[in-house]
Amino acid sequence: MTETQLSTIWKLVLKELELSISGTVFKTWFKKSSLLSLKPGFAEIGVENNFAKNAIKKYAEERLVGALSKQAGFPVTSISYIIQEVKTATQQDTSTLTLEATITPTSTVPVFQLNSKEAPVQSNLNPRYTFSTFIVGNRNRLAYAAAKAVSERPGIAYNPLYLYGGVGLGKTHLMQAVGNEIISHEPQKRVLYVSCENFTNEFVYHLQKGKIDDFKKKYRTIDVFLIDDIQFIAGKAGSQEEFFHTFNALYQTNRQIILTSDKVPSEIPNLEERLSSRFAQGMIADMQLPDLETRQAILLAKCQEKGIGLPDETLLFIAERVETNIRELEGALTTVLMHLEANQLPATLDSVQQALRSFHTSQKPLKKTSIEQICSIVCEYYNVELKDIQGPHRQKELVKPRQIIMYLLKNELGLTFPAIGRQIGGRDHTTAMHSVEKIEKEMKKSTELLEELKRIKELFYVSSTK
Ligand code: ADP
Ligand code: MG
Repeated sequence: MTETQLSTIWKLVLKELELSISGTVFKTWFKKSSLLSLKPGFAEIGVENNFAKNAIKKYAEERLVGALSKQAGFPVTSISYIIQEVKTATQQDTSTLTLEATITPTSTVPVFQLNSKEAPVQSNLNPRYTFSTFIVGNRNRLAYAAAKAVSERPGIAYNPLYLYGGVGLGKTHLMQAVGNEIISHEPQKRVLYVSCENFTNEFVYHLQKGKIDDFKKKYRTIDVFLIDDIQFIAGKAGSQEEFFHTFNALYQTNRQIILTSDKVPSEIPNLEERLSSRFAQGMIADMQLPDLETRQAILLAKCQEKGIGLPDETLLFIAERVETNIRELEGALTTVLMHLEANQLPATLDSVQQALRSFHTSQKPLKKTSIEQICSIVCEYYNVELKDIQGPHRQKELVKPRQIIMYLLKNELGLTFPAIGRQIGGRDHTTAMHSVEKIEKEMKKSTELLEELKRIKELFYVSSTK
């Protein structure tokens, strides 16, 4: 890869990370950072000093791995950090020492390498998603038990296993835990994890290139097939047809299939009957938001993983405040830890409360985005004209993008409801308010909408780096 390519990828990665890490913290860690090399499975990052290295490793590595894989177009699982500047200030040396001391000895790197080298196919599994890091509570016990059984007797216990539940509740984690467990006992097993979106993209790509036989061969010869967020196959007739045959080929030869979704099979709209009935013929298990105690236990486990101790009352506080899902719970914990570290604060209830407040505000602004940019990106995304959005018509095709623009004007730019109403064709402030509420409510139910919003936000930062 050329230097220019590396630098372009790095810019996009930083733009993405900047969205989830508060401003000053981000600048301290990623100042003078660069991407030195990149190949499947592995990246080398140049960082300014040891402090940055340790902080990134501890708090941002997972997001870094995700963003790098996305921009590179192949999975990156292991990162090595190269310190590029020799430190001058002695003060930095001492902070380095104290930080080193708190790092847990179990580095994740060897695990990553072991899996990617030994597995006969690129399994795409995240080695962090195991049964041992999965906390079981009342609301996910059934799913856990089913997954455990499948990992012990793949292809026999429950086939297919269908896990469903809202976003961020551990479906991907549990599904991959089965894959990791199987590979750990039988490394020769061909386990393949794929998001439904990648499956359909890959299908279309192979079709266009006239290489559909390669695609069939790849998917019909695996032992354990993990397909994530299957609801996204809705409405895609060609992919459904292909998936149906893949499913049958695997099922008939007792290969294990695990699917996840945000809904039960019969509720996925535009899904062929023959598929939904097959999805339902094994075991269906739901996953729900864990209760307060389990959320607290999850936080405790995450702290232990990072080798950090926080007082119980602070964990309880965070667990009480975050009632949406576990992904957000983790996000809140990370932000709290980053805030405490960046500002050298003790872990008291007070400082944690303060940190959590800054979490909610630091997530929001996208400084460089303007009103015009939001409008034009959303219009382009949904293929509608701005004048129609501002106009009076209420067709479904217009209402959704209109509401999304209003939501983004509120959340990204902090515009008032009257100002939003004025921007969108002189509408009343109550209309703006209802639109924003509508989207917020919808976001809680629809992973598809969350996905769309994520895409749209990605377009913001791509367009602001141009
Ligand atoms: P989903 O696929 O349902 O959207 P994920 O599996 O991606 O959710 O989970 C979101 C995050 O929450 C992941 O980092 C995962 O490790 C964590 N998580 C979810 N459930 C649990 C659990 N029961 N114990 C520990 N961590 C969990
Ligand atoms: Mg998932």
